[in-house]
Amino acid sequence: MKVIIITGSSDGIGAEVARQLAAKYGAQAALVLAARNEERLRAVAAACAASGAQTMVVSTDVSDQAQCRRLIDMTVEKFDRIDVLINNAGRSAHALLDEVTDLGWYEELMRINFWGSVWCTHAALSHLKKSKGSIVAVSSLAGLIGVPGRTAYSATKFAMSGFFEALRIELKPAGVSVTTAYPGVVATQIRHHGFNAAGGELGRSSLKEDNAMPVEECAALIIGGMEARKREVVMSLKGKLGRFMKLIAPGRVEDVALAAVEADHRPS
Ligand code: NDP
Repeated sequence: MKVIIITGSSDGIGAEVARQLAAKYGAQAALVLAARNEERLRAVAAACAASGAQTMVVSTDVSDQAQCRRLIDMTVEKFDRIDVLINNAGRSAHALLDEVTDLGWYEELMRINFWGSVWCTHAALSHLKKSKGSIVAVSSLAGLIGVPGRTAYSATKFAMSGFFEALRIELKPAGVSVTTAYPGVVATQIRHHGFNAAGGELGRSSLKEDNAMPVEECAALIIGGMEARKREVVMSLKGKLGRFMKLIAPGRVEDVALAAVEADHRPS
């Protein structure tokens, strides 16, 4: 049986990853579902259990180190092992730096997206080494390419990319794989719940969403990358091209990044 922890699994990509893993592995999977909204977690757990998977719901705010430790402790207490940790919990943000007066929420975003992943990974490390397991980090294309209006978000995702790239090499001798996923725009509500300049909820998307990737496709790509123990999963042709274009024509990439943002969120 594979014991798989998924943070941010009450909604969006994490919930879909959980449902797909349950459908694929059935009774061979024990899924530990973590996020703040317990009611939503229970609904996802019920769907996974209907596919035959074992489940455990652990109400967790990953911006708190003690709660990250508790998540790992409770998993080991119940299942006695950890095979996979999927660091997926995250929040979005959209604001131009000169619109921001109080940078407190920049720190909060770093605690959720970056520190939450670091704290969970650190607490789970010895168990993952024992099982020669896998770590997945859900970063973002904004963690490979800076996007205007996303100084806070891009910083958290670049930080994740650097942390997990270095950790991948550290864990090579131990046989633990580290897969970093870089989704582009995926059709979830993440942007609506993101921080605005004042630190409140944005309430809408500031990106053009016409070509958003379906959440099912994104989840399947993450699972494929995890199973194949890939270093990275860079999603969408735009993402793959953007990464290489940045090396040879960075000015062109900046123009494309600017065009991806709705007009009223562009710097003037
Ligand atoms: P959603 O907003 O749909 O889901 C976010 C999940 O994270 C929810 O389950 C939410 O649950 C959880 N979460 C948020 N804050 C916390 C917290 N403090 N502690 C624990 N859990 C938390 O977003 P997505 O599914 O779209 O995003 C998932 C990941 O993918 C994120 O890391 C995001 O940055 C990344 N990503 C998404 C893209 C997209 O276009 N959708 C593109 C690139 C990357 P709850 O509120 O119950 O705590």
